[in-house]
This record gives sequence, structure tokens and C-alpha cells, in this order.
Amino acid sequence: MSKKIVSLFCFLSFWASLDAQTPSTFYQQIVSRVSSDTVLANLQKLESLGKKEPGTAALDNTANWLISKYASFGYTNIVRDTFDYGGHQLYNLIITKYGTVFPPKYIIIDGHYDTYQGPGVNDNGSGVAVILEIARLLSNVQTAYSIKFINFSAEEEGLIGSQHYVDNTVIPTNQNIVLVFNIDEVGGVSGTINNTITCERDESNPSSNNAASYAFTDTLVTLTHQYSSLLTQINYAYGSDYVPFQEAGEVITGYYETNESPYVHSPNDLLIHMSPDYVTEIARAATGASLWFSQASPLNTSLDLSSAQNKIRISPNPARDFIRWNCPENAGNYQLRFYNSMGQLLEELDYSTANEPIADITKLPDGIISLKFSFENPKSNCTVSFLKSH
Ligand SMILES: [Zn+2]
Repeated sequence: MSKKIVSLFCFLSFWASLDAQTPSTFYQQIVSRVSSDTVLANLQKLESLGKKEPGTAALDNTANWLISKYASFGYTNIVRDTFDYGGHQLYNLIITKYGTVFPPKYIIIDGHYDTYQGPGVNDNGSGVAVILEIARLLSNVQTAYSIKFINFSAEEEGLIGSQHYVDNTVIPTNQNIVLVFNIDEVGGVSGTINNTITCERDESNPSSNNAASYAFTDTLVTLTHQYSSLLTQINYAYGSDYVPFQEAGEVITGYYETNESPYVHSPNDLLIHMSPDYVTEIARAATGASLWFSQASPLNTSLDLSSAQNKIRISPNPARDFIRWNCPENAGNYQLRFYNSMGQLLEELDYSTANEPIADITKLPDGIISLKFSFENPKSNCTVSFLKSH
């Protein structure tokens, strides 16, 4: 969807100096595999597929091509969510990757694949190309939360596909959604400096889900700076597939280009009027953000206890349901003690290196928690802190 309104409420933010989180070297390694050639090839393919309106062969051909792409990445849970619109049978494409810690909780990463009055290489070929790159790079990565990659149809007809999905799947199945991350129109404008991405947050009614959207969007800003060279600004979310989710009370965030293309919704929404380098940079930022939102982790992190103080890392931080840490390899038995900011002992847990390094923290109070590790082999202590958030 094209967005012509200039917000009075947007502002540039420069968070680098305020950033409390540390970029993960594991995430950086994955982000470094974002390929400008792959992004460009996908944009060219989406251009060649033509105008993807309901009833066109191009829309069906695009759905089939996307399914073949996700399958080629190794995904096997690929569902066509079918609905009728204007006498045509249309499909949302739902690709599910199961999490290892909280499989019933979902991060939704979405962007529509239908277009209006043109091939829509920016709106929303750009978002589709970014999501394909995230899906390619995360296919073999273990994540704590499940991910649904969704390409909605009939967005341009009035958010028809996403509304259908919310009404017929999200609400009736009481789907447990941690976050909806919507990517729509991130192509940039050729001949201009495309160095800023707009991060979108929920400022609409109902307001019960707005604070969480603000927090996730602030995190998206931080992650964008950590994993890409982009600057950020924040604006309110409107006019894209996150709207039916937010209206149903879900927590949303999103990416939308800061330099707005004058060519969308026309036959001139073409690659020549965009910046493929900008789309690649968005793919880097979005991949880093998706790794963090889904709490991806390497399988075998180990820790050298001789300098443990600097190496124990808690993730996620802030944390809501659980925390993990990098497990000491030969530590034998060790103990975790959780303290509140007053120094009061909240909980004590015994572990050994045979246990998965993960703890349920749902019963801990909100706020800063100090966590003391006591190891036997060699005898040593290490204290780290994290924010328990609601
Ligand atoms: Zn769009």
C-alpha cells in the first residue's frame, strides 16, 4: 500500500549511543550472508512476473514461484490459506518454522505479494524479497519461538487477505502471537540518498496493545542499528497488513521506506526507479531483527570458565518467559541465584552441564534481576543482570 501522508509525529532517532544491548556475533555471521545478488535476482523475478492483481495469471504464478522458493530453502510446512474475493480464488501463503522452546508461540513476519496497476517491484516486491532472504538464512537456525512467514494476497484491495487470516485463523484458534513484523514497500527511490528506514508502531485503538508495540519498535530501532548501516525514524502504523492484527489486540511493528516512491500503484513501479542496495540493507536489518525476535541461538555455545565474568551472556534481554545463557562446557554442577534490586533472593536453581541452559522466569517479578552463577569446577562466581519485562 502506498502511503502519501507525511507524519507530523515522526522524528529521527540516533540510538547508537543509548544502546544497551550487545550485537550477537552469531547473529552477525548470519546477517553477513545476506546477498545483494540474491535480493536483486528476486526483485528481477518479481518484476518479470508482471501485474499481480486478483484474477491475473501473474498472481497465481507468483504464489507458485514463492512456494517453490520456500520449499527450496527446506521448509516443508507450506500452506495455502484460500479465500474468495471478487469471484476469484486467492491465497495467503503461510510458511511455519517450529521453535524449540515455545513452539505454540509465534513471531509472524509478513508482507503482501499482490500488486496494484503494475508489477509492484517496490510495493511490495521489495518486502517479499526481504522476507525470502530472511527465510533462506533462518531455515537451518534453531529459534525459541515459532515463526510464520506469511505472504498475504489482496492487500491492495483493502487488507482482504490479512483480515481473512485474522478472522478465520488467528481469532478462532486463539493463536498465541508474540509479535507481527510487517514489511511493506521498502524499495527506496533511485537517485536519492536511501539511508533511513521508518519503523512503525501501533498508535491506534485499541490501545491495550500499544505499549508493547512501542517497546518492540524501540527494539527494532536498536536492532536495525546493530545489524545494518541504516538510520531510523519512528512513525505510526497504518494502511498495511498489520492493521487487522492490531485491531484484534495483537502486538505489531513494521518497516516502511522513508523516501516514499512516487511510482507505486502504477506501471512504473519498476526496479529502475528503486535502490536494490537499500533493499539489501533492509534485508540485513530485518534478518538481525528476526533472529532476535524469534530468539535464535546456536546449538553448542561453550564458555571458558577461566574468564567467565566477561563471557556469560543472558538472552533474551529484556526477557519475559525464559532466559538462556552460554553453557560452561566442563563446569559440572552449578547453581543459579536470582536477586531483585534490593538484593533479596528470589529463586535458587541447580544445574549441571547435562541440563539445557534455560530457565523459566515467568514467576519472577518485573524489573532488574541480578543472576549469580556459582560454579564448582573451577570454583568461581559470576553475576550478570537482565531486565524481566511484562
Ligand atoms: Zn504495499
